[in-house]
Amino acid sequence: MKKKTDSRRSPAEVLFSLHESCGVFGIYSPSEDVARLTFYALFALQHRGQESAGIATADGKTLRIFAAMGRVSNVFTEESLKNLTGSIAIGHNRYSTSGSSRASNAQPIIVGNETSTIAVAHNGNLVNAEHLYQELVELGYKFNGTTDSEVIANLILAAPGKNWLEKIRHTMHRIQGAYSLVILTPTELYAVRDPLGVRPLCLGRVDHGWAVASESCAIDQIGASFEREIERDEIVLINGDGVQSFPGDPGKRGLCIFEYIYFARPDSLINGKLLYATRQAMGAGLANEHPIDGDIVMSVPDSATAAANGYATASGLPAVEGLIKNRYVGRTFIMPDQHMRDLGVYMKFNPMPQVLDGERVVVVDDSIVRGTTTPQVVKMLRKAGAKEIHMRICAPPIKHPCYFGVDMATRGELIAAKKSVPEICKYIGADSLGYLSIKGLLKAVDQPRENFCLACFTGDYPIPVQLEMDKLGIEILANKRSEVCDAMEDD
Ligand code: AMP
Repeated sequence: MKKKTDSRRSPAEVLFSLHESCGVFGIYSPSEDVARLTFYALFALQHRGQESAGIATADGKTLRIFAAMGRVSNVFTEESLKNLTGSIAIGHNRYSTSGSSRASNAQPIIVGNETSTIAVAHNGNLVNAEHLYQELVELGYKFNGTTDSEVIANLILAAPGKNWLEKIRHTMHRIQGAYSLVILTPTELYAVRDPLGVRPLCLGRVDHGWAVASESCAIDQIGASFEREIERDEIVLINGDGVQSFPGDPGKRGLCIFEYIYFARPDSLINGKLLYATRQAMGAGLANEHPIDGDIVMSVPDSATAAANGYATASGLPAVEGLIKNRYVGRTFIMPDQHMRDLGVYMKFNPMPQVLDGERVVVVDDSIVRGTTTPQVVKMLRKAGAKEIHMRICAPPIKHPCYFGVDMATRGELIAAKKSVPEICKYIGADSLGYLSIKGLLKAVDQPRENFCLACFTGDYPIPVQLEMDKLGIEILANKRSEVCDAMEDD
């Protein structure tokens, strides 16, 4: 059967939507209801993915799984949680922009045979998945979905090695790109971070066990205590003997700086620093780099709230709330096409004329990506009476797509790839526009440039990427295969 795709989107767009930028969680605790704790943790990580959610548990012998499309609160019921028995669990929230979004791409992914079964949940994006997919298909491995995560799961299964640890390490030598993984076997939990450390992953301690999570806010949520971040190229094994660490041999660092700007929750710690404070520092940096004679400072809520706070403190201008966000509307990027994204912005914010009328307003936002949100926000604020609107943006101009797990846009869609700052200012309809510089951003995160992947600003990717082919990867191969199969069936 042919797959249905959204006819308004090009194949590249549809495939680009497959990039995984998700939340993962894992727990080993014989004394707790691990499925329920995973459910709570996935709640805390909901901002990292709202498309599908899933939990897999292990009871020493058997793996059980429940995964479906939707947000955590819609996916699970009392009954589905009750059926997820065991003392080890992993969970996943998936984030992609739809198109070929479907249940078969929901995670965790279970792969295996009569003798060995594992479940895998992945945050990140591989850059060499196509070639590995083809190799696995030739070896007779079957795929239910079309994600690079399923490639990882099958590679681990296929890898040589006496035990899962050896198989996982072998797989890490073959895959390239961003991957923070949680892996469940009937008796063990593994947590794995790629050699660049692109996506975050941390370890926490629960009463009689351990937990791992994409962000520390999920560790807090389940009442666990934050222990440390999982290192780059490290494998952590958690089982009845406690925690064991198997360090790797990482090369350069490549933590995604966009985690600091937008993706992660402000109450999470990354590199030992609270993100809220880092975002405040970004706002202060904007006030220093782009001062303006304004009356009030406000954010586009919620992702820029801390930064607006920092701007207000540094500039001495009063911080106000000029837009109220409907918290029940998802992130605008989750909308499947441009038309829905446009509507989404209006559903999301309501301006307050009582606050804005006649004011010269400094508006702080985390980023401008495609340039969909900002013109509408500016229009809304003007309609509500703002006299001047001065946009201040924490992320430097985004000119290059992300191949490592932030689903941003294709290069052609990125507004800063096509327009200069004055042109963007005109396009969004603001009175002035100021982006934080890369230098200012690094000052706010308070770490050296070498620690980060800044490719979305510079085009300098930490590992080589085939700029167009990657995006067309697995799905094209899968489509080709199914067309060949259809043709054979027709014959
Ligand atoms: P745009 O409308 O395309 O310019 O997107 C910018 C807005 O989307 C910003 O206000 C961000 O808060 C948000 N945003 C930025 N990056 C992402 C992303 N990768 N996924 C979802 N939302 C994003």
